[in-house]
Amino acid sequence: MPELPDVEGFRRVLRRAAGHPVEAVDVSDAGVLRDASTADFRRSLTGLAFGTPRRLGKWLVAPMHAPGRRHRTDEPSVVFHFGMTGELLWCPGEPDSRHPHDRVVFVTGAGELCFRDLRKLQGLRLAHEDAACDEILAGTGPDAEAIGLEDFRGRLGATRRQVKTALMDQSTVAGLGNLLVDEILWRARLHPTTPTRALADDDWRHLHRRMRSTVRAAIPTGRVPPRSSWLTGRRDQDGSTCPRCGTPVRRTRVGGRATVWCPRCQPS
Ligand SMILES: [Zn+2]
Repeated sequence: MPELPDVEGFRRVLRRAAGHPVEAVDVSDAGVLRDASTADFRRSLTGLAFGTPRRLGKWLVAPMHAPGRRHRTDEPSVVFHFGMTGELLWCPGEPDSRHPHDRVVFVTGAGELCFRDLRKLQGLRLAHEDAACDEILAGTGPDAEAIGLEDFRGRLGATRRQVKTALMDQSTVAGLGNLLVDEILWRARLHPTTPTRALADDDWRHLHRRMRSTVRAAIPTGRVPPRSSWLTGRRDQDGSTCPRCGTPVRRTRVGGRATVWCPRCQPS
């Protein structure tokens, strides 16, 4: 499932489109268009150029503009959400080269930009102006890469929740998914079900620092890397052990999500 580092990777993919006008929008499956029709997408975007993309948590925004000048607040944006299985990639643009799950293809002078998605849980939204874009993003909390310690603590500590559940909530802090949260808690040596109200000053500092360092280490790889020195690299193997202490890792469900932790490094 795409998390902050994956979406940051898609932002780099999209950045290659900056300045290039959309020559055509091919929609082979309108099931990924949210609150807009194929005709609306085509009519609103064809002829406009991609601007500099930006990301908030797991959202990716492509502001559009008339070629040769900057984006204006009354011009549209395409807002991407990758759900469980979405990706954004450049395709060769040759006949018959398209993948069956390429739901929307933007044909540009830089090539064909494909939104590929197996399960179609989310998709593409069309914001006709910046105010509509702000509305789409309104329920999303500050980005996990950028949030400061005080804001982080204030938001997570404001409700009585388990720390994993709080970190997973996109309206609290945005961009963290199941793999990152397990990785961050393992690095911070916190048990996933620890109530946020039980965290001391040092715990908050430590958790915030580990969140940032984990996110920043993952971003260049465009995913949560399954390195053997990371908990993520051990989570899918039978009989796997903690990369730090060698203790067999434990598995359970927290907030309905498969959760992996080390009973020695992260005592409850
Ligand atoms: Zn351990």
